[in-house]
Amino acid sequence: MSKCEVCFRHCDIPEGGVGFCMARSCKDGSVYPISYGKVTSLALDPIEKKPLRHFHGGSKILSVGSYGCNLRCPFCQNSEISWAENVPEWNKRADTLMPDELADIAQNLRDKGNIGVAFTYNEPLICYEYVLDTAKLIHEKGMVNVLVSNGTAELPILEKLIPYIDAMNIDLKGFHDGFYENVLKGDKETVLDFIKEASGHCHIELTTLIVTGENDSDDEMLKISSWIADIDPNIPLHISRFFPCFHMTDRPATDVGRIYHLADIASERLRYVHTGNV
Ligand code: SF4
Repeated sequence: MSKCEVCFRHCDIPEGGVGFCMARSCKDGSVYPISYGKVTSLALDPIEKKPLRHFHGGSKILSVGSYGCNLRCPFCQNSEISWAENVPEWNKRADTLMPDELADIAQNLRDKGNIGVAFTYNEPLICYEYVLDTAKLIHEKGMVNVLVSNGTAELPILEKLIPYIDAMNIDLKGFHDGFYENVLKGDKETVLDFIKEASGHCHIELTTLIVTGENDSDDEMLKISSWIADIDPNIPLHISRFFPCFHMTDRPATDVGRIYHLADIASERLRYVHTGNV
């Protein structure tokens, strides 16, 4: 049995067992990432799709994902690789792509407009070792690294990575008490600490998915935008529309008018507010 210190969960992992995220195990008393080099998704995406709107606009980035997640958002759009029943199977089914191989692919795609690697699709920090090893190689090749994260890793993990990460999009999924803990099975304070720390070191943009009946009130957006503005009103915020999916199909998609209304509220405090999926 050993304790994993990567994220807020601090799982006690029994020898040969797996942690909550299904991406880390314990061998000879040490925790290690079983998803290292296991790739489920690979695509050359527009940088705006991450979403990043103020970082190398118009470029493309090689986007890579593995499997597993440490949250349990019932509206997850990547549930097949993040937390559906077949996640353990991904360890056998996923392709293996070691950091040097991924870095070579990234370099070979430069003539197609690729500027580097984005670690995304599932939560990348549950296998931060892969991010770290790959990001070092990408920097050696003169390219950039982007992290798309739920922001629930502990700060010592972020500090290891930050010298090699050029930009992040971090989810700030809500603000009222209980949403993170009860609906997402997360920890809001960890996310707030993560965002504050990251904002001092690299370009960051934030994303809030507006879920009908959960985090769509004026007061919620007032609190989110005020908190961000206190750090830096120049941090871009992406306000995105929810569509029913996975385990949350009991409510309609977010009303488009509400998205624009919330964007107006956020714009009173933040310089860059973008709407998504509208
Ligand atoms: S990274 Fe995974 S194993 Fe480690 S504490 Fe978080 S959920 Fe548990």
